[in-house]
Amino acid sequence: MGVFPENNVKLVDEIIAAAGFGPDELAPVPHGKDQQLFDALRFHYDVSVLTEPFLLACGRLTKHPELKKIIADDEKRKAYLSGRGLVYPIVDFNVKFPTTEYLVAPLKALNPRLYSISSSPKAHPSEVHLTVGKVTYDLHGRKRLGVCSTYLADHKLDRPVKVYMHSNKAFRLAENNDVPAIMIGPGTGIAPFRAFLEEREARGAKGKNWLFFGDQHQATDFLYEEQITA
Ligand SMILES: Cc1cc2nc3c(=O)[nH]c(=O)nc-3n(C[C@H](O)[C@H](O)[C@H](O)COP(=O)(O)OP(=O)(O)OC[C@H]3O[C@@H](n4cnc5c(N)ncnc54)[C@H](O)[C@@H]3O)c2cc1C
Repeated sequence: MGVFPENNVKLVDEIIAAAGFGPDELAPVPHGKDQQLFDALRFHYDVSVLTEPFLLACGRLTKHPELKKIIADDEKRKAYLSGRGLVYPIVDFNVKFPTTEYLVAPLKALNPRLYSISSSPKAHPSEVHLTVGKVTYDLHGRKRLGVCSTYLADHKLDRPVKVYMHSNKAFRLAENNDVPAIMIGPGTGIAPFRAFLEEREARGAKGKNWLFFGDQHQATDFLYEEQITA
């Protein structure tokens, strides 16, 4: 299933404030009519990491000598880009954007992320379960959060999540209920196989099921432990 993520509200507010705009000002979005800047940055653009095109765009908008030096030097540029967010160059070099278009033009579109469905529709009619690992890591001393996995993990269930179905004809459970199934899915890779196991159980399939699963710590990472050991 494809999930359309939303960017963190605090991060979007910070960017808008740093760029000196109001959240209601209009901004262009990919493939659509202009929207309020807050919505444009929250739903349509990837604002999670500082990219080279954004840094270069900042360089065109300011005469700040330090930024010119960083842009001209490969090593310095790479070092500056590492682990920083969009707000950094705007604040560090006092970048002024003439219009919202200058702010969003160098940004990439915010793409949906794919997740394996981890439930069988026979076991859970009208439900879809996902098994999502929240992505967090340190990059050059700064904590970085994965956009979509964090969006799902921290969702307050106060609004719908936009999704679409994506089918994969090459990866599916055998129709023959008597053949054995060998499934290898460490970590969240267990997701489709939990669905396969539920489906086989619901079908009353007689074929043997072998699931190879591994993760770091039994106490915290044995996903679906009760269901699988049962
Ligand atoms: C067919 C398919 C099925 C999938 N099924 C599942 C599933 O069932 N469950 C699941 O949890 N995920 C699944 N994924 C992965 C999922 O689509 C996302 O990629 C994942 O959730 C991360 O997205 P994000 O938006 O949270 O992170 P992003 O914001 O996209 O950040 C992830 C990026 O951060 C960088 N990164 C991550 N860790 C580090 C690190 N330690 N050091 C440096 N850089 C790093 C990498 O560039 C990585 O691409 C699947 C992917 C595909 C293609």
